Amino acid sequence: MIKYHPAPDIEEQAKQIAEKLNMPHDLSRIKFVRSKGSQAKRTLARCHATPRVMQTALDMKAHYIIEVISENYDKLSLVERQKIIIHELLHVPKSMKGGFRHHDFVCEKNIDKLHKMLRG
Ligand SMILES: [Zn+2]
Repeated sequence: MIKYHPAPDIEEQAKQIAEKLNMPHDLSRIKFVRSKGSQAKRTLARCHATPRVMQTALDMKAHYIIEVISENYDKLSLVERQKIIIHELLHVPKSMKGGFRHHDFVCEKNIDKLHKMLRG
């Protein structure tokens, strides 16, 4: 069964990345978890959002959860891990209302461009 653990190390890394790249997101509404025991063999990370029905019923703003799949993510190089964090952050729209940006925008070209900025 899949198990989820808080990932403060990834949160810290994401904060630094978002700051350096001037990403406008409200990081207090983006949470980071590490999962273990996923059946996903090739998935490195994924981005979840609270469904609108829950936002309405619980009277809360949308929150996003970036999940990294430990077995696949943690063995990658620093550069690859940085690119994955950028990738997942790009899925979160500036409006942060619960939707996602898709892979027409979250693409290698945009990720590489931002990663170059990150490395200065
Ligand atoms: Zn993606």
